[in-house]
Amino acid sequence: MNNRPDNHYDLIAIGAGSGGIATVNRAASYGARCAVIESDSSLGGTCVNRGCVPKKVMWYGASVAQALDDAEGYGFKIQKQGFDWSALVERREAYISRINKSYENTLAKAPVDVIRGHGKLVDANTVQVGDQTLRADRILLAPGGEPVVPDVAGSEFGITSDGFFELQDCPRRVAVVGAGYIAVELAGMLAALGAQTTLVLRKDQILRSFDGMLSEVLERQMKEIGVSFVKSFPVDSVTKDESGIVLHHDGKALEPVDSLIWAIGRQPRTADLGLQQAGVTVDKRGYVPVDEYQKTNVDSVFAVGDVTGAAQLTPVAIAAGRRLADRIYNNMSDRKLDYSLIPTVVFSHPPIGTIGLSEAEAREQYGDSIKVYQAEFTPMYSVFAAHQEKTAMKLIVQGEDEKVVGCHVIGLGADEMMQGFGVAMRMGATKRDFDDTVAIHPTSSEELVTMR
Ligand code: FAD
Ligand code: NDP
Repeated sequence: MNNRPDNHYDLIAIGAGSGGIATVNRAASYGARCAVIESDSSLGGTCVNRGCVPKKVMWYGASVAQALDDAEGYGFKIQKQGFDWSALVERREAYISRINKSYENTLAKAPVDVIRGHGKLVDANTVQVGDQTLRADRILLAPGGEPVVPDVAGSEFGITSDGFFELQDCPRRVAVVGAGYIAVELAGMLAALGAQTTLVLRKDQILRSFDGMLSEVLERQMKEIGVSFVKSFPVDSVTKDESGIVLHHDGKALEPVDSLIWAIGRQPRTADLGLQQAGVTVDKRGYVPVDEYQKTNVDSVFAVGDVTGAAQLTPVAIAAGRRLADRIYNNMSDRKLDYSLIPTVVFSHPPIGTIGLSEAEAREQYGDSIKVYQAEFTPMYSVFAAHQEKTAMKLIVQGEDEKVVGCHVIGLGADEMMQGFGVAMRMGATKRDFDDTVAIHPTSSEELVTMR
């Protein structure tokens, strides 16, 4: 390592987001000489700057708005005097700047060289950043993804989740197009914060890849907080005039809105990465396939995070990167990420926590050997609150020993509930293990260990 030129590293990561930063930090802790290349002015990637973090701040803001409505039921006399969206945005951005700064400090301490600019592979061991040529024994691709904008006339009248975080005011009338995580999260927040919100689906159901109970209950609850649903409306064009932005499908037009948000999925940022020059294969959607050790088809090039197309979640990118660094730079020869049983939360209103197989997936995989336990109830908080939220839960078990293969919750607190159940399921918990665990009372989660 010592006699190498300054521009030669053990590991270079392209992208200082969740995956890139986690990998180089861990590798540097084992003594590897690392650099990370970032084209954005801020470190931290999507999660910190345009994803999880600003989203969760807005979600908390929306939850406070709901709590204010609920306060009267708990005896408070409250007069709401409006909501200052831009004040919340200002604080949110200041918080994010502090996170950006802390990343700079951590990387400097590691130490990891931060190289600013657009990184592009020249060959399997060389990266070009502007006029700098860097070499490395190994290169990590961690460029993440970006929102998809549909190829329809007038699509430019809409913004994406990136634009949502740039809004300085709450739109009065907004249409969110999409049916996944981002669509339901943004629609829920906007409605709770006072926007007249319409969710526009090309098909007839939200969160189609989740357990059916979750999408069904969420749709009901979203309607309860004022979200309107337009179904089977694949937008084929968008127009804008003095009345607002209008979505069209097959000659039909929706009511005009002030803001349109596309939330129809994300695509990998691989178009200008020099992958072809280095011989790295991509699939037909542009994702970089990797083996179970995060290696691409080229021995010196690895990839983690959204660019691989696997579960596109921050902790997944981080976990994959850290395990890769453990394996290569700390002799943990079989260390790799197990992509099964990944718990996840949708920050909808109310939130969803879910892990394992949906009922449909479990039936497909195990046929009649599954059994389903289900409950729906009014959580105690809602008894006194203006918002009449329901909580619904489902446990899917399989085989004679009733191993838990799916656990799904929608309702207050679901977001904080799932981490521990995730540990239990990874350890192979059965329904009997759940039943043998003494309940915590009075909570909603106790229902999961008392289901009959
Ligand atoms: P990123 O974090 O996107 O980082 C990639 C970095 O690479 C970026 O900084 C980019 O500028 C840089 N880059 C790209 N190309 C180049 C290049 N050629 N040269 C130099 N730099 C380059 N996940 C959760 O777990 N929980 C959540 O609550 C959650 N909420 C989300 C909300 C929204 C609105 C969005 C959009 C995503 C959310 N996610 C959430 C997903 C999460 O943000 C991603 O899974 C995660 O950020 C992926 O990390 P990554 O390292 O793969 O990529
Ligand atoms: P998703 O893939 O979750 O959902 C996008 C959905 O939009 C599709 O499933 C599809 O649903 C619908 N869609 C696709 N094309 C169109 C179209 N042309 N018109 C209308 N609807 C369309 O993508 P998101 O952008 O919501 O999120 C990307 C990823 O980011 C997520 O999958 C998740 O991994 C991550 N994320 C995680 C969060 C969290 O952890 N809380 C929060 C936000 C994002 P259908 O086929 O039913 O029409």
